Amino acid sequence: MVEPGRSSENWALGPVLAMEEPFPFVCVGCGDCCRQRRDLVLSGYDLYRIARRLRLSPRIVAHAFCKSYVAPQSCLPALRLTPDPKTGNCRFFEGNACAIHEARPLACALYPLGQSIDPVTAQTEYRAQLPLCGACPEGRTLRDYLEDSAIPERAGIDARWAVVCTGISRQLQAIGGPDHPHFAAAVRRIERALYLDYDLGDEFYPQFQQNTQVLMPLLARMLENNGC
Ligand code: SF4
Ligand code: SF4
Repeated sequence: MVEPGRSSENWALGPVLAMEEPFPFVCVGCGDCCRQRRDLVLSGYDLYRIARRLRLSPRIVAHAFCKSYVAPQSCLPALRLTPDPKTGNCRFFEGNACAIHEARPLACALYPLGQSIDPVTAQTEYRAQLPLCGACPEGRTLRDYLEDSAIPERAGIDARWAVVCTGISRQLQAIGGPDHPHFAAAVRRIERALYLDYDLGDEFYPQFQQNTQVLMPLLARMLENNGC
């Protein structure tokens, strides 16, 4: 689930929205969703896009701007953007605007929507964070908003990412997660395949496919001793 987040406010997710349903929202650029933002978890594609925008390798961006950790529920390696240590705001929030707007992470492009992807069917559902921020014009639909935010252009990659990550997560949980003797080594190898081993001169998706094709049998060999 990619959740929206105005961390300092109380909010709830609304019902699932259909594509042609009214979605009366336009961003007014107040910047509230970038202030005190500590919950921005990146996908590999998010990291790749930011790295391309900054002309730095994914490894350097991860090291300089992110906290790397193992997500307790999924057992997967994850990266979270670290906030500016002085202001607590997102470190790309400059002069009341996003300095990496065209490469902003999925969670930011969706905001104030959250997204969940079925790991089997890859079907995507959207829910709005309520109460809605911004302005409330008439006649806008969910489809209008997603298209304006360029979500359909990346939806296939995001869906595939969710499916692959769910598969790896199940594998890690099945072998006992951190209790497995090779868990730490496996996590490092997974982090490389999902986030770090990407050449910015080539497109993301073919590299993601190649990386995961190499990763799967390697992971199976690393984890075949369950250590129990
Ligand atoms: S990446 Fe950009 S849009 Fe997202 S929280 Fe940071 S400044 Fe805001
Ligand atoms: S998405 Fe909402 S909170 Fe964020 S800048 Fe736009 S209106 Fe403000």
